[in-house]
Amino acid sequence: MRYNKINDLPHFIQGVVVHGFGRGGKQLGCPTANLDEMAVNQLPEKFPCGVYYGLAQVGCGGLHRMVMSVGWNPHFHNQKKTVEIHILHKFSSDFYNSHIRAVALGFIREMQSFKSLEELMEAIREDISLAEKKLSLIDMKEYEDLDFFRMKG
Ligand code: ADP
Ligand code: MG
Repeated sequence: MRYNKINDLPHFIQGVVVHGFGRGGKQLGCPTANLDEMAVNQLPEKFPCGVYYGLAQVGCGGLHRMVMSVGWNPHFHNQKKTVEIHILHKFSSDFYNSHIRAVALGFIREMQSFKSLEELMEAIREDISLAEKKLSLIDMKEYEDLDFFRMKG
């Protein structure tokens, strides 16, 4: 399978949660925490666009499973990359301006455009279900113990 060609994983990334362009993530039940420009610029130039699964931590909170997209932002005429993380956890409030640390562990699919909102939502559901399946096999403790995730603040 061609996805196995991506051997730069796991990839660790951290940044500050900034406002996106309200493309309806939250309305679709899929809010994405957008990383700040500096974090995005630190991605290796050849890091492939697409959808990934991994783990993320907001501030000094717990480690959660996540789905991350790396892509080109149409609002900037596709000249600016964005990194967006949907955390598979229900938060009681928004966390803009918080520090977020994440590790991308596996590649799910390339970016694509969808003919309809229904198709997009179906793809998101499939991404999440694949991420849950893959992430159920990993040992979270192994990652919680890493210095990168500062579980105690
Ligand atoms: P924006 O366009 O500003 O990124 P979104 O609709 O994508 O707006 O919502 C993202 C925001 O929702 C995040 O920045 C965060 O503060 C909040 N949020 C709440 N729950 C989650 C979650 N489970 N995963 C990601 N972000 C979440
Ligand atoms: Mg967003």
